[in-house]
Amino acid sequence: ATEIHLASRPVGLPSKDDFAIVRAEVREPGDGEVVVRNDYLSVDPYMRGRMNDVKSYIPPFQVGEVMDGGAVGTVVASRSDELAVGDTVLHEYGWREYAVGPAKRFRAVDTTRVPASSYLSVLGMPGQTAYFGLFDVAAMRPGDTVFVSGAAGAVGSLVGQFAKLRGARRVIGSAGSADKVAYLREELGFDEAFDYKDGPVSEQLAEAAPRGIDVYFDNVGGDHLEAALTSLRTFGRVAMCGAITQYNDTEPAPGPRNLFLAVTKRLSMRGFIVMDFAERAGEFTAEVSRWVRDDRVRVRETVTSGITSMPDAFLGLFSGDNLGKMLVRLDDS
Ligand code: NDP
Repeated sequence: ATEIHLASRPVGLPSKDDFAIVRAEVREPGDGEVVVRNDYLSVDPYMRGRMNDVKSYIPPFQVGEVMDGGAVGTVVASRSDELAVGDTVLHEYGWREYAVGPAKRFRAVDTTRVPASSYLSVLGMPGQTAYFGLFDVAAMRPGDTVFVSGAAGAVGSLVGQFAKLRGARRVIGSAGSADKVAYLREELGFDEAFDYKDGPVSEQLAEAAPRGIDVYFDNVGGDHLEAALTSLRTFGRVAMCGAITQYNDTEPAPGPRNLFLAVTKRLSMRGFIVMDFAERAGEFTAEVSRWVRDDRVRVRETVTSGITSMPDAFLGLFSGDNLGKMLVRLDDS
């Protein structure tokens, strides 16, 4: 079977040479273990941080070893009473065709009403990030005007839709192409959307939200954060979720020049990691799976095919190749 190793630690934007495509034996499962054939593999921006040798909230990938990350697969052999052959499972042994490990590291998921890939998008980590970031970290309330960057991506597209479903007055999104902007307006129900490549974010945001914003959900940092600080109203709130503009920087990026506005406008800016909310997953699942069942949330995926496409799929996150969640699908063979 094939798996992807970290070949070298990138400096700046990673290249395909930083990954190695490696053939490896699928080992026999031990007592209490299962073998899973992966069906969908997730690529996520946070993986860029794990390619660096730095201490963070999650350990770095090791050079010369298989990488890992979210995946959904099918149990093909089981030496555990907890999982049976044929079960669909969610787990963290991604970046490989076959995963072998203790059954307790795999969670069975119900695919009778939703596709398996949902557990890597709306019903999984990106969904939880959007949900807790918006409703808990940014404490969005009905009537708020909400701005989200990276709005056509996995997390951002859900933030905008969740905001509407919980009674936001206006939802504004930014993304990096005309097609994405049209998608936000026409398919996802955003009230306003703009292409951040069309002109200064501060001007475009001021035009889209002449009366200011109450909540900013930050996926990108940089100019967007600075523009949002200017547009936020008194007692506005920022969920600091990500800063993809900076993940490939080789030197620290300058901070927003207008940070003092946080004082004068009494802003709350709170960073978070989705894992902080692991114990509250039940609340999320109850509400969001109802929205999904009732067809009140639209979910898009950009899917590449085959394990060898995985490095390109990952790199594509940094050039905006994806609409919705970026995934890699493996075929049955
Ligand atoms: P996305 O699906 O949004 O994919 C990344 C997107 O980022 C691309 O599609 C691209 O869209 C945009 N992008 C890339 N480079 C830039 C740039 N220089 N400026 C502006 N936009 C850029 O990824 P996710 O939804 O998975 O993640 C979104 C953010 O949320 C990331 O910052 C991620 O790290 C963060 N995150 C944080 C979590 C947490 O626990 N705090 C958990 C999960 C995600 P475009 O075409 O619009 O440029």
